[in-house]
Amino acid sequence: MAWLALERLDGPASPRLRARRFAAGRLTFGWSDCTTSRQGSLRLEGTAVEDYTRHLVGNEWVRGSGGEYESINPFTRSAWAVHTHASEADVSRAVAAARSAFPAWRQTSGYDRARLILRLADLMERDIDRLAELETRDNGKIVRENKNQIAFAARIYRFFAGLADKLNGETKPLDNYDTVDYTVREPLGVCALITAWNSPLQLLANKLPPALAAGNTAVIKPSEFTGVSTLALGELILEAGFPPGVINVITGAAGAGAALTSHPDIDKISFTGGVETARLIAANAAAHMTPATYELGGKSANIIFPDADLDRAIPGAVAGIFAAAGQTCVAGSRLLVHADRYDEVVEAVAKRAQLVRLGDPMDPQTQMGPLAHSGHLTRVQRAIAAALEDGARLVTGGTAPPGLHDTLFMAPTVFADVTSDMRLAQQEVFGPVLAVQQFRTDSEAIEIANGTGYALASGLWSSDITRAHRVAKELRAGTCWINTYRTSAAQAPFGGFRNSGYGRERGTDGILEYTTTKNTMIDLSTAVRDPFVLGR
Ligand code: NAD
Repeated sequence: MAWLALERLDGPASPRLRARRFAAGRLTFGWSDCTTSRQGSLRLEGTAVEDYTRHLVGNEWVRGSGGEYESINPFTRSAWAVHTHASEADVSRAVAAARSAFPAWRQTSGYDRARLILRLADLMERDIDRLAELETRDNGKIVRENKNQIAFAARIYRFFAGLADKLNGETKPLDNYDTVDYTVREPLGVCALITAWNSPLQLLANKLPPALAAGNTAVIKPSEFTGVSTLALGELILEAGFPPGVINVITGAAGAGAALTSHPDIDKISFTGGVETARLIAANAAAHMTPATYELGGKSANIIFPDADLDRAIPGAVAGIFAAAGQTCVAGSRLLVHADRYDEVVEAVAKRAQLVRLGDPMDPQTQMGPLAHSGHLTRVQRAIAAALEDGARLVTGGTAPPGLHDTLFMAPTVFADVTSDMRLAQQEVFGPVLAVQQFRTDSEAIEIANGTGYALASGLWSSDITRAHRVAKELRAGTCWINTYRTSAAQAPFGGFRNSGYGRERGTDGILEYTTTKNTMIDLSTAVRDPFVLGR
């Protein structure tokens, strides 16, 4: 079922006609300058805006009531999708749907939960081109990377599906022979899952499948900049056949997120985003003692020792910061280089940075797209200005690339001679800006690497196995890569500490975050015990 209507709109841009589309199933209708997409459906170009003013609640598509907002394609800089903010009432309806679905879902066998999760993974893979294209239109990341991330997301769904029927408890041998004791891992209840704009479906894959596999139900809120792919996932959730209310999707910005995370009927929050937002959520969560996992930012150090294989370390350092235009939480944004190789590395990294191919993120040849939104570009520009003010040496970049002024592009930027007291060495930029620092000894490298408020990821390049392990032991970060960078696996736990957050995603640790332990004791004896003293 679908309807199509025309409406005059006075948005932040000039008034324009746009095609309004609302469909319970897959969207297949369009209007205006339509071109045939690879999926064979109609694609809207020009000023047409696709209607995504819907939330998935209890397996029904319902219109949000909190007012409309547009999603801007950062490459074309025009609005291409419209959403609605979830009002407090919308949030409460979604939470109520998840709550009513919880008792039956909790009692569904792990095997049956896994079948649905696996089906969803299959559907994501079937629609991978469409999902990747939607994400690229929303966040401007190259479509190759988005496709790769969605393939990884499907892999994570399968990993957690495999754990759904393996959440074993333990039996405990107590001091008292007559008492039998066992534990069970129980689901927590309704989970609020909130994602950032850089990788919506991949970030969600770290949250949704472990929550479901453990027997929880969910309300998902993607970033206001990138809501479309999560709504498209909603279509696949319906197709997969999840029972009503098990997975709900709402859209909106801070207001919707705050209403969700302060809702008294939320049993678990899993958040990916910035530390300032996390502090607000933690304050809200405190009111109801809601447990939470926070996946936040980083200022990760990538260390090149004098014995490193530079043929591998330099591409690793370049991709570590410029992949996804630096908009990854694990970006190796600080490159620490031993004094003996410093000049050589700075020169090589700058040369490679200048060769990064910027352009249309839909073009398979492009290596770096624009930044995700104009507010973010301003933030990156401010960080560059602060670095210059603090005395860092600009080696390359620092502005929009030639011919790309008045766009959201930022040239790959390298600053050398950065010192730990500079803002560029301490504050997350979340953009294509590399800070190169020099060190002379292993202990100095460790001290610099550990010298920020973040502790998410770290990397080191060395051909000395002893040095590599010795240094890795001292690096304060949730992940340490040796002779690689930005490698991820469904089985490997991921997360940080300090201002990078707490809790772990992926791996077996990732599913335990969505469970609580219940202990059960059974007295097998017939003896009457003294009830006024502690039984043991
Ligand atoms: P953000 O904190 O601005 O927004 C993240 C999400 O929180 C969005 O969905 C947003 O709508 C929501 N939100 C905003 N205000 C809220 C509030 N008061 N209450 C509840 N929810 C609220 O972050 P962003 O700009 O979308 O993402 C960039 C940040 O995310 C960077 O710091 C980056 O390092 C971090 N990040 C971390 C990881 C990780 O896994 N560690 C991954 C990706 C991004």
